[in-house]
Amino acid sequence: MRLILLGPPGSGKGTQAQRLVERDGLVQLSTGEMLRAAVAAGTTVGLKAKDIMAAGGLVPDEIVVGIISDRIDQPDAKSGFVLDGFPRTVPQAEALDALLKHKHMKLDAVIELRVNEGALLSRVEARVAEMRARGEDVRADDTPEVLTRRLANYRAQTEPLIHYYSERRKLITVDGMMSIEEVTKEISRILHAIAKAQKPAKKGSRKSVAGTKKTAKKAGSRGGKPGPKRPVSVKKAAKTALRAAKRAVGGLRKGAKTASRKVVKKLTKKRAKA
Ligand code: ADP
Repeated sequence: MRLILLGPPGSGKGTQAQRLVERDGLVQLSTGEMLRAAVAAGTTVGLKAKDIMAAGGLVPDEIVVGIISDRIDQPDAKSGFVLDGFPRTVPQAEALDALLKHKHMKLDAVIELRVNEGALLSRVEARVAEMRARGEDVRADDTPEVLTRRLANYRAQTEPLIHYYSERRKLITVDGMMSIEEVTKEISRILHAIAKAQKPAKKGSRKSVAGTKKTAKKAGSRGGKPGPKRPVSVKKAAKTALRAAKRAVGGLRKGAKTASRKVVKKLTKKRAKA
């Protein structure tokens, strides 16, 4: 599963991403975390990002796109990932589209955590207090002044992504004002619905991949000898099996695409009603 978590600072992206890591075995790709690690390690990227981040600005697109591209190539990200804090601008989203296309990967869904702005400051304040209580370093950008700038950036640069992904039928909005537990449950419900919709088409309606494999094996096993009804050469049988396999895989891809779109549409409608 390849997901994006979208939401303003304090909406709970990081918390939910971590739960997806623990429960669903996805890899969390958080540009914020990666940049903070780069700053702490004093790398070239870290040196470039340090002051921008402390002031609540956005690190240049080419830096974050580069980081994400490299990270997606790591073996642990092959089975799925959840992007948290990326993309943050429309050009980043376009770069991600191009990148995934190039890597022959597909994005499954974009989950937007919608939260009342009034709640964000107190959430971030609570996070700061918890970190202090645990004796952890508090983020340089978790002050009321910088948070105001981060929020303004979110509204101007990141919010347009809601429209971007909604147009591409990828967006699913979750009420981020619910408890952490409830948000997790809702996300889990969505992921199950997507996974179910992506399963191979119903029995009888389209050939399954397994069925195709069988066909291919059967055709090949004739070994050039005449079949029960008509003599079929190995070459011809292999060709037929290949065509069948291509048809089945094409059908499955199409089926999965339509199904995931259906789920997104259904969930969005349901939520809009609520
Ligand atoms: P939050 O979502 O709470 O603002 P993050 O940890 O995601 O926090 O990001 C912290 C900071 O890192 C941002 O304010 C920004 O300076 C930088 N950053 C993170 N992701 C990106 C990105 N995709 N593009 C540009 N800057 C980013």
